[in-house]
Amino acid sequence: MSLARKLAGFDPRNRPDPAARPKPRPRAELGRLKPLDRVLAQLDALELQHQRTYSGYAARCPSHLGDVGRLNFEVVELDRERHSRDGRIMPVGSVLLYCQAYGDIAGARGCSQPRVIKALGLLPCDLFPGDAGEERADLRAGSRYRLPAHGAYRPPLDEDAIERWEELAARFEAALRGRHAGRLGQLADQLGVPESALARFHVGWRRPDLRQVDGKVVEGQCWTIPERDGDGRITAINRRYEDGGKRIMAGGRRGLYVPAGWREHPGPVHCPEGFSDAAALVAAGACAIGRPSASGGVAELAELLAGDPRPIVVLGENDAKPMRRDGGLVLEHGAPAVRRPGYDGAVAACRRLRALMGRDDVTVSMPPAGFKDVRELLTRKGAPS
Ligand SMILES: [Zn+2]
Repeated sequence: MSLARKLAGFDPRNRPDPAARPKPRPRAELGRLKPLDRVLAQLDALELQHQRTYSGYAARCPSHLGDVGRLNFEVVELDRERHSRDGRIMPVGSVLLYCQAYGDIAGARGCSQPRVIKALGLLPCDLFPGDAGEERADLRAGSRYRLPAHGAYRPPLDEDAIERWEELAARFEAALRGRHAGRLGQLADQLGVPESALARFHVGWRRPDLRQVDGKVVEGQCWTIPERDGDGRITAINRRYEDGGKRIMAGGRRGLYVPAGWREHPGPVHCPEGFSDAAALVAAGACAIGRPSASGGVAELAELLAGDPRPIVVLGENDAKPMRRDGGLVLEHGAPAVRRPGYDGAVAACRRLRALMGRDDVTVSMPPAGFKDVRELLTRKGAPS
């Protein structure tokens, strides 16, 4: 067997004999399935590996030749009605597709939404609920994963917007170093984390700060903590008030809490939830990048940590909450059912990071019983000096 033939064996689509290449099933066979099952049926027919993630499925891309095991194609079924970018309504059950390689290469070899749909042997209308008999021209362009909603689902910001966030954050940071210098010490006391660790996250002070409380605009003051994208650029600013309340500033895209100098730290890279946990870890001499929420910031982490050889540990939180419905406790096998968003989110983030990065050395770690999170563990027991 020639070397070329052996190498071709790594990918079913590379088989030198085109007749042996797996083909999608005829559309007519899939008409009665729901859109998600149409896509999964075709991934199976094409022998493309896929697995469940917290938001849907991660798979090998049907269009471009990605590495085996690199699941950078996402399939998401809408669980509520959404508006597409051009304002049309996408009903519940519609399927959104997204390949991370979209737009990476221009021209005939690049990956794009129309090519993905074609490679799946489908028409765009097959991604919408209903019997996909005829091609429906009204449903032509309708699928995209990045949605114009909130937080992480906002499309990436443009250069001008990022520049505005960077300027704003620099202004707040200057205020904290200047006129309001005492405020950093106040935050350090509140969190039990030394000023030097907080400063590495470029914390700032905003006064006056305006926020809505119960429909009324309230003037106050707050600390500001920048959130960054996978390139380390500021795309949002979170606010922390003296009473411990937190509120993201409007218009940004949620991101990561990234301390200065994080690349020089020995591994592993710890990824706790929130800024204060990341700061507590940094104070203890560890490398830490904060996630904006229990399961958010994963795509940004994958980008930021691309090519970084250190192991990655996603840190969860012990935040079990009894489930309630209509004012009463939800029972499961006679006992109150419990929601664990901090644990579930960390597991989902870990799975998705593994899929996006094609790595299997991403792990989840939970604080010991009795501690809510890593900051509590480090500050209550006393940080190692
Ligand atoms: Zn692709």
